[in-house]
Amino acid sequence: MALIVQKYGGTSVGSPERIKNVVRRVAKYNALGHQIIVVVSAMSGETNRLIGLAKEMQAQPDPRELDMVVSTGEQVTVGLVSMGLMQEGLKAKSYTGAQVKIITDSAFTKARILSIDEQNIRADLANGYVVVVAGFQGIDKEGNITTLGRGGSDTTGVAIAAALHADECQIYTDVDGVYTTDPRVVPEARRLKTITFEEMLEMASLGSKVLQIRAVEFAGKYKVKLRVLSSFEEEGDGTLITFEEDEKMEQAIISGIAFNRDEAKITVRGVPDKPGIAYQILGPISEANVDVDMIIQNVGVDGSTDFSFTVHRNEFDKAMDILKNQVQNHIGARNVVGDNKTAKVSVVGVGMRSHVGIASKMFRTLAEEGINIQMISTSEIKISVVIDEKYLELAVRVLHKAFDLDLDQEPA
Ligand code: ADP
Ligand code: ASP
Ligand code: MG
Repeated sequence: MALIVQKYGGTSVGSPERIKNVVRRVAKYNALGHQIIVVVSAMSGETNRLIGLAKEMQAQPDPRELDMVVSTGEQVTVGLVSMGLMQEGLKAKSYTGAQVKIITDSAFTKARILSIDEQNIRADLANGYVVVVAGFQGIDKEGNITTLGRGGSDTTGVAIAAALHADECQIYTDVDGVYTTDPRVVPEARRLKTITFEEMLEMASLGSKVLQIRAVEFAGKYKVKLRVLSSFEEEGDGTLITFEEDEKMEQAIISGIAFNRDEAKITVRGVPDKPGIAYQILGPISEANVDVDMIIQNVGVDGSTDFSFTVHRNEFDKAMDILKNQVQNHIGARNVVGDNKTAKVSVVGVGMRSHVGIASKMFRTLAEEGINIQMISTSEIKISVVIDEKYLELAVRVLHKAFDLDLDQEPA
């Protein structure tokens, strides 16, 4: 008997028919004698619909109230899944995040899980219930409802698996695993049988929304056995996230390509080239809770330089306002310019550690298509570039081909 957490995404619970499909799978695992905790998202499109409603009331919805509204999507699906399970003759019980006592910090719309009270869940499992938990939500210490950021149900699933020391966390979604890149953009993309935890962490943080980054972080920290699978197919092993590089297999140098359309670039021009400038520019940005991604400062000429960085596109206006109104005059910068039509493309692979020439191959491939690189950043296992958004899909396709990701790399 194993304890298994099964997380189902929005498309997988998008209609009563699909929920019945989820119920069938849960019943099958239950019949094998396993204890099951089901974590579900809201029905597909529902979270967007709720955000849209909120924006009709307030141009910039109050974060606490927004979480109050968007958390309802998952409350509907947990109830429906439980009913479906009962209809099949199983014992089932639904919980909101607050009912479980998934305690988070108070960063509304992007809260972090601090602790999970496992008592109720354990007691229900011991009494033969399938426990159905609402993804994406929690409660802070003051009792406010919080949400975990888009895609946050993945994190609920993995965090519950970690808290209860589950044998496996299965993420059921609308693709049958993690691919070399988003199969919606590159039809030749291939499913990976395994991907290392580090690679998955990079892929998620660089824009592959198949898993939320915090879910991957939890899996790494607590060594949760994590697998991504299709909710529409009966069979299939999906993709296993591994913690060791498999030495038996011929390791591909590049495992995947991630991309992110939500990047916006800001440049503060003509800033004095002296100590403290980065802090004076980025301090107010971070105080406003705006996350900064890539940062570049040029070599100064005649005592002044340019300072560029990227932020999430949703936070572009806010960041521009802060720089123009609080920072520019204060530090004596010439001006502030921005471009919110940029995108980031990254190649990821642990094989990069032992191979040279990956960056030059990437840059050459983009150059051959006439794609200008605006910013570059690297780590041990990834290279990212910022480019004009209009070339994004082309860039992903040509890089996928250049690194032979469309070819079957399984050893014979
Ligand atoms: P869910 O609602 O089940 O959480 P998501 O839409 O959040 O599903 O994530 C699944 C989607 O992630 C896929 O439909 C696919 O378009 C996208 N995706 C992006 N990158 C990848 C990748 N490398 N492998 C698989 N899917 C990817
Ligand atoms: N329903 C939430 C969202 O759409 C959480 C999730 O699906 O993981 O982002
Ligand atoms: Mg998701």
